[in-house]
Amino acid sequence: MNRIAIIGGGPGGLTLALILQRHGIDSVIYERESAESIRDRGGSLDLHKDSGQLALKEAGLLEAFHKIARYEGEDLLLVDKHGTVYRKEVDETGKEGDRPEIDRGDLCELLLHALDPQRIRFGYKFIEAIPLADGKHELHFENGHVDTVDLVVGADGAFSKLRPLLTDASVEYSGLSMVELNIEDAANRHPDLFSFNGRGSMIALSDNKGILAQVNGDGRIRVYLSFRADRDWVDTNGIPLDKPQVAKQAFLKLFDDWDEMLKNYIRYAEDKMVTRRIYMLPIGLTWESRIGITLLGDAAHLMSPFMGEGVNLAMLDASVLALSLVQNGDLEESIRSYEQKMFEYSSPMAEMSDDNLKLFFADTGASGVRDWFDQFEQGHQEED
Ligand SMILES: Cc1cc2nc3c(=O)[nH]c(=O)nc-3n(C[C@H](O)[C@H](O)[C@H](O)COP(=O)(O)OP(=O)(O)OC[C@H]3O[C@@H](n4cnc5c(N)ncnc54)[C@H](O)[C@@H]3O)c2cc1C
Repeated sequence: MNRIAIIGGGPGGLTLALILQRHGIDSVIYERESAESIRDRGGSLDLHKDSGQLALKEAGLLEAFHKIARYEGEDLLLVDKHGTVYRKEVDETGKEGDRPEIDRGDLCELLLHALDPQRIRFGYKFIEAIPLADGKHELHFENGHVDTVDLVVGADGAFSKLRPLLTDASVEYSGLSMVELNIEDAANRHPDLFSFNGRGSMIALSDNKGILAQVNGDGRIRVYLSFRADRDWVDTNGIPLDKPQVAKQAFLKLFDDWDEMLKNYIRYAEDKMVTRRIYMLPIGLTWESRIGITLLGDAAHLMSPFMGEGVNLAMLDASVLALSLVQNGDLEESIRSYEQKMFEYSSPMAEMSDDNLKLFFADTGASGVRDWFDQFEQGHQEED
């Protein structure tokens, strides 16, 4: 039987191991972080019916997901800097939509809970893979562990250490930087803002800037102040994130002529602030298939988050790869067939994500995004 190692226990790696487990195929995940920290990290994600949810179905977890998914999280408010409303979606019917939300930590917990604990090793930071003559790879870890496998799958995210074995392409800065803020227990502590925000996402866009906010499962509002900026802006802007009060004043100044309620997203934030640069891989990236190695998720097609597809594609990749391995006796053919499909469905998504980044942070701001929503909806109606 082939020995399979998966580098990275994010949503993509976990889904792959779980679907393989359901089909009686052994694999081991090597994850650099601890179990606690992968349960903790990240905001709310919407899982789409034709990708993320499809993969959960293959993993046998669709029903369990439906029980904890937050359908109310699909509510949306789109405004400009004056608070003028361009789009408001509030579902009061209790009807289950196609893109319910789940926190990343809850999703990882759901997947981990179903996975045989023998199939994941925490605290194993992967360093390098040495290709051997017979298509196998020798894997080296920071803690000195060495493993030799027939197939290694890079599910190790944006800065994949396996990617260079398949392609020279590397991640590029997208031109967008974010500062992440959090407002804990927003409904009770800041009912004015919670009532404005609603139960799902609030997107405020003007002047090539944005305040993007999302209610998470633990009651916090996670906020991303978003700026078109040079790559080094987060280091050179002089805003001291370790002095939250001073930093807040600086951010309020950057949004000086924005509506007072929108500025409350900054005023009410907790002290911990985190900067994030948004990176992407070249759109339409492909590579020549090689025996014994492949990539999935962000490692394969990192894209900006403005189509909400990243996690969905990572899980879809996992499902397509797992089923290809299950259905195909030949390892080389399984990898080739998976990669062909993955390249085909992921590159239009990468293109749309990039188009959306440009649309969100354009002079047209909220009105451009409203028009996009209208067209997107019309396209879907025509398909139905
Ligand atoms: C601000 C922001 C908002 C987003 N919003 C959305 C959204 O609304 N919807 C959506 O679908 N997507 C969103 N995304 C993208 C989404 O989070 C990713 O696309 C998704 O997590 C990719 O899953 P993955 O399993 O491929 O990689 P990851 O989730 O990055 O997991 C990779 C795993 O590999 C581990 N790892 C890394 N290096 C090593 C190593 N050397 N050795 C061992 N382990 C290693 C990491 O610890 C991690 O656990 C957003 C991203 C950002 C930055």
